[in-house]
Amino acid sequence: MDLRSLSYEELKDSLAEMGEKPFRANQIYEWLHKKHIQSMDEMTNISVALRNKLSEKYDFGRFEIVRMQESKIDGTRKYLFALGDGNMIESVLMRYHHGNSVCISSQVGCRMGCAFCASTLDGLVRSLTPGEMLGQIYAISSDIGERISNVVVMGSGEPMDNFDNIVKFIGMLTDERGLNISQRNLTVSTCGLVDRIRQLADMQFQITLAISLHATTDESRRQLMPIANRYSIKEITDACAYYFEKTGRRITFEYSLVGGVNDSEEEAERLSKIAKPLHAHINLIPVNPIKERDFVPSKDRNIKAFQNKLEKNGINVTIRREMGRDIDGACGQLRRKVMTGD
Ligand code: SAH
Repeated sequence: MDLRSLSYEELKDSLAEMGEKPFRANQIYEWLHKKHIQSMDEMTNISVALRNKLSEKYDFGRFEIVRMQESKIDGTRKYLFALGDGNMIESVLMRYHHGNSVCISSQVGCRMGCAFCASTLDGLVRSLTPGEMLGQIYAISSDIGERISNVVVMGSGEPMDNFDNIVKFIGMLTDERGLNISQRNLTVSTCGLVDRIRQLADMQFQITLAISLHATTDESRRQLMPIANRYSIKEITDACAYYFEKTGRRITFEYSLVGGVNDSEEEAERLSKIAKPLHAHINLIPVNPIKERDFVPSKDRNIKAFQNKLEKNGINVTIRREMGRDIDGACGQLRRKVMTGD
């Protein structure tokens, strides 16, 4: 187990087993989750003997920056990290006027198979631990020497396919002994694993849940997202209503506009009908083309018309600013590029 994946309680229990006093847990937790050290040796108020005992039992879960690309357009940074086992993951830093936002990966690869997404082309390698999810945020914060105020789990992987680790991650990220990020400043995005959405609703976190919808009929959704063979749009919206009822938090629907595939005004009309009863927010994303697939983004005038239609129907809609287009911004593109040697 990596040391950074231990919750405060688990760390305290583990240290007690080693015969250590409880205040050691506070010190070590602070080194890991507030000071964001990159190796055990940096814990200068912890004896070498205890550091050695810890490293016998736990992996530090250290990872390094393999590559960093910064957008000349908007300052967005894309990081490629190497994990202890040699796997690589991507994270993105976005700078907004309201603060720094980090987009993290939840898995190495992905097994959801969405047609337009680069992360899933080679399937799932493995899920990330809570420590590896936190580590992405800590490493970026250390690299720029600034605080991170928002986190979105919208990088590679399907967070609801790594449920227990995501739940633990949410607890640790929002813990006042760590980064202490408000639950409201955390967004978790899912392709719509209905049973997991309901389970998450029961936990009553105050996070934002984003659903990758991308289509308005089951038939067209199946063309883009294999998960649509398992759950219907109706089952998803029922689960969203349940989420809203349990948490009082409005859902966000993500809708990637693919030219000629899902961007007609008729679809905007149907999308309005889906979103309206849920008071859902819609985030339109012009599809980011990947070279392995021949999807094209919608034309600007179609994007505008789509947005207008939604607005006329009283739907709250934003077009996601296309950040980092010049730096392989789409999920999984940078990792793939480095791995395939392009
Ligand atoms: N598995 C989760 C989170 C990861 S992807 C999910 O499905 O929500 C984050 C968002 O980016 C999803 O809405 C996903 O469908 C979208 N996405 C992936 N590749 C894209 C691309 N090439 N262009 C536009 N959006 C893309």
